Amino acid sequence: MSLPSAGSPARHAATVLAPFAVVAAAHIGPAVTWLPGLRRRFFPGLAGTGRPDHIALTFDDGPDPLSTPRFLDVLDVLGVRATFFVLGESVVRYPALARETAERGHELAVHGWTHDRPWLPDPARDTADLTRAVHAVWQVAGRRPRWYRPPYGILTSGRWAAARRSGLRPVLWSTWGRDWTAGATPASVRMTVEAGLRGGGTLLLHDSDRLSAAGCWHSALGALPGIVDGCHAAGLSVGPLAEHGTGRPAETPGYRAPAEPPPAARRGGSGQRPSW
Ligand SMILES: [Zn+2]
Repeated sequence: MSLPSAGSPARHAATVLAPFAVVAAAHIGPAVTWLPGLRRRFFPGLAGTGRPDHIALTFDDGPDPLSTPRFLDVLDVLGVRATFFVLGESVVRYPALARETAERGHELAVHGWTHDRPWLPDPARDTADLTRAVHAVWQVAGRRPRWYRPPYGILTSGRWAAARRSGLRPVLWSTWGRDWTAGATPASVRMTVEAGLRGGGTLLLHDSDRLSAAGCWHSALGALPGIVDGCHAAGLSVGPLAEHGTGRPAETPGYRAPAEPPPAARRGGSGQRPSW
């Protein structure tokens, strides 16, 4: 196959489009950290790897008045605290529920302002959205949020930079329960979690179905007692990211330490697996 000649329309198009391809690659390139194996191996802090005797319990997509209170009640019964990655627009819509979540001992973190997919680069919007979300959370919780988990776990270069400017540290997850799917049940969620969870891991569940299959939050809620009991039986404590001792700041590319001191820096999990 011959290359287009110097003056051909195809060569011209390639020349014109090349800068856009470079911009697109720079924009979406960091999103490869979405791949769990790559993340665990090369970015343990981003994967939420913490102290080996601890599981970080995290929930995304709230606050949601239909479901979040149910999670707060079950967590109270279990005596467990968690990290809730909330959406800024929902925090300002349901400030009392967000405040109650914090007052009941949970940690609030930033999931974004809205739950959008960032296919087109817009660094200014990324920064404005995260700044707004940080202030919304800070206002209701009374303390500055520390963690950031982007919607769908897609970390673009613009989101990296926005997190750094906002003093947030990106943390994704090491295990999930696939609780957002229409066919999810408490048993399927627990089985999925059991297959992947190790000491030092960060578990992703959802306390709202606003962005997924209707009613799917029941599967996560129903699985919760069994998951927590399994961890405790294996000698693993369960708690928020603040108590997880996750990675060192240097393990997160582009991370700039916030004003307050980061959690104790301890490396890596032991690979220890709960005996369910
Ligand atoms: Zn989400």
